[in-house]
Amino acid sequence: MPSVREQIALELITPSPRTYEQLKPFQFGENTFNDRVMREKLPKDVYKKLIKTIKAGEKLDLSIANSVAHAMKEWAISKGVTHFTHWFQPQTGLTAEKHDSFYEVESDGQIIERFKGDQLVQGEPDASSFPSGGMRATFEARGYTMWDPSSPAFIVEGPNGGGILCIPSVFISYNGEALDKKTPLLRSMDAINRSGLALLKLFGNKTATRVVPTVGTEQEYFLIDKRFFNLRPDLRVAGRTLLGAEPPKGQQLEDHYFGSIKERVLAFMQDAENELYRLGVPAKTRHNEVAPHQFEIAPIFAEMNIGADRNQLIMEVLKRVAARHGLALLLHEKPFKGVNGSGKHNNWSLSDSQGNNLLDPGKTPEENLQFLVFLVSVLKAVNDYGDLLRASIASAGNDHRLGANEAPPAIMSVFLGERLTEILDDIKAGKEIKRTEEFIIDLGISQLPSILRDNTDRNRTSPFAFTGNKFEFRAVGSSASISMPNIFLSAAVADSIDIIIKDIQKELEKGTEFKAAVLSVLRKFIIETERIRFEGNNYSKEWEEEAEKRGLPNIKRTGYALAALIDPKNVAMLERQKVFSREELEARYHIKLEQYVKTLDIEADTICDMIQTKILPAAVEYQTRLAVAIKETHAVASVTNGLGLEILIDSLNKINATISELHQECQKLKALLKEGLTIEDIEKQARFFADRIVDQIEATRRPADQLEAIIPDELWPLPKYSEMLFML
Ligand code: ADP
Ligand code: MG
Repeated sequence: MPSVREQIALELITPSPRTYEQLKPFQFGENTFNDRVMREKLPKDVYKKLIKTIKAGEKLDLSIANSVAHAMKEWAISKGVTHFTHWFQPQTGLTAEKHDSFYEVESDGQIIERFKGDQLVQGEPDASSFPSGGMRATFEARGYTMWDPSSPAFIVEGPNGGGILCIPSVFISYNGEALDKKTPLLRSMDAINRSGLALLKLFGNKTATRVVPTVGTEQEYFLIDKRFFNLRPDLRVAGRTLLGAEPPKGQQLEDHYFGSIKERVLAFMQDAENELYRLGVPAKTRHNEVAPHQFEIAPIFAEMNIGADRNQLIMEVLKRVAARHGLALLLHEKPFKGVNGSGKHNNWSLSDSQGNNLLDPGKTPEENLQFLVFLVSVLKAVNDYGDLLRASIASAGNDHRLGANEAPPAIMSVFLGERLTEILDDIKAGKEIKRTEEFIIDLGISQLPSILRDNTDRNRTSPFAFTGNKFEFRAVGSSASISMPNIFLSAAVADSIDIIIKDIQKELEKGTEFKAAVLSVLRKFIIETERIRFEGNNYSKEWEEEAEKRGLPNIKRTGYALAALIDPKNVAMLERQKVFSREELEARYHIKLEQYVKTLDIEADTICDMIQTKILPAAVEYQTRLAVAIKETHAVASVTNGLGLEILIDSLNKINATISELHQECQKLKALLKEGLTIEDIEKQARFFADRIVDQIEATRRPADQLEAIIPDELWPLPKYSEMLFML
């Protein structure tokens, strides 16, 4: 009788012809309350006011709320929607929703469909179980959600028709403290807007009314057959395999990257994209990634808050649609040991109200100079707040990936490319730049080349690379919300811009001519930020050593990396930019530490449980078989001359030793876990987990993985890497 594993494998090897549902014909964005719908459904004056709120980032005029709510409800009901929810991002990294139906009871007992302005604008979820880092306990008992009109409302279709109207919202306490990730994200956009506009003004720009960060994410993920997933408690509970021997054929052959996409995967991708298109998410590229069964999806970029919402939606839709296709979608940063993990490239730039990319080198000398100021502000942000950026991407999952020769290390550095490096070096040296065909600009005191887009020399190993007209932050984990890294990056850049403006003004007050003043300030910060510029191989040992010499931090584990969240210099900057208060940061620090400890606690529990209830029984079964075989072989030894007996005894000794090692490591892990869980100070606890538990989980895994290689295949109770990663 084939085992369950074998049955699945057989079925996957010779699948019955698969039938796929026909894709629905669609109109892009048809499930969003977008500009077209608003123009059509709203009274003209209401539409105008709402657009003003959205475009200028202004506060919502409450007098129009009823009208908007009514139109939204009518539109939603016409599409079969029965419920609405305020859709928000609590600090768990997921999104939260609580569904309410449109039905209400009239005084005469009649049931009618109603959705009023105040229901649209404000909700009050009983959200007492969301992590708040003790904030609501200190300030207020409850928080409330508030509509963020800058991100369009959308409909999530029910599995069998019907649907839910989702209203993108922020989640705040009665005193206005941010309990979610969206509120500080919006605040950091305000900060960039303030400082970015001031800088444009300094450069004589009279037309721009707004400066806004833009974000586009490249999302990586794994797909495996759902039945294998269901047979693995570690994947179900912890999102990653805590056990599993590396397969003989891994990614060594490098035949997966950009390879042709399998039919079953393509059907899933098309289905997911269809749903995303209807939600107004412009999915643009899809391809196979480096590891087997690893893939990537990237949408067209958008303003930062919309970009963040979209990434959240992408993760949700991918998961949901995968399940429909009998697939499990893994967002974990390192689901399989010895196989490349998943990340998320966070592409970030700045745009003005005319849609000009401010990190796109210009064509005129003025544009070039202005570009350089924005560029150097980003360098300064990474130089001064690299620790904060590191903290923003810290998680138990991402720790497995960073610095593991597949992703950048935990050292924050910037790659600029040869051309820009040359230009900055020339400015630093105060050099006259020679005129050639493209070097056309005479700046009086110095000359500046017109900077061509540097797309040629991309360094894939850099955690933070300039890629022609945007920065690409590559160290973000695949399962994480992109909010925190973008909040810190935007706030830090805003702060750098403020400082640079002040310095330029000081120079101007001394009577220095404008271009000279700018160049001299640039020169100062180019020198100051030189230590974080690195063009070489970030994965190399030499870089780690070099970075240490340069004084760049390399904090490998989350238990330590998070401390930057409450570092006085960082708190001061974030308060100065009105992005976070000290209390909000402390709350986040605690939540993150708790999440880290909980994740490791769950992993330790799960691995012990799997060993006890799955691995050891299988090992003992094999042990018994061997013992019986030895006994029986012994009985006929005189006949067979004892042939084979030695091999059997060898095997038995080996399995005995491995079982005993596994048992010991497991006991050790349990003891450490017990000790760790008694530590009351969360900071100390997180560090204990970082120092002791992480490595002990690995140590416990080792003998189990050895057993996998010696126990008969039919007895092995878990799907193997060779099945999960090579069968779809
Ligand atoms: P690569 O794989 O070479 O990094 P992709 O084309 O796969 O490039 O992804 C680039 C990502 O960067 C896309 O999500 C794209 O929308 C985004 N992007 C492009 N321009 C900008 C910009 N100005 N601001 C933010 N994101 C951008
Ligand atoms: Mg990329």
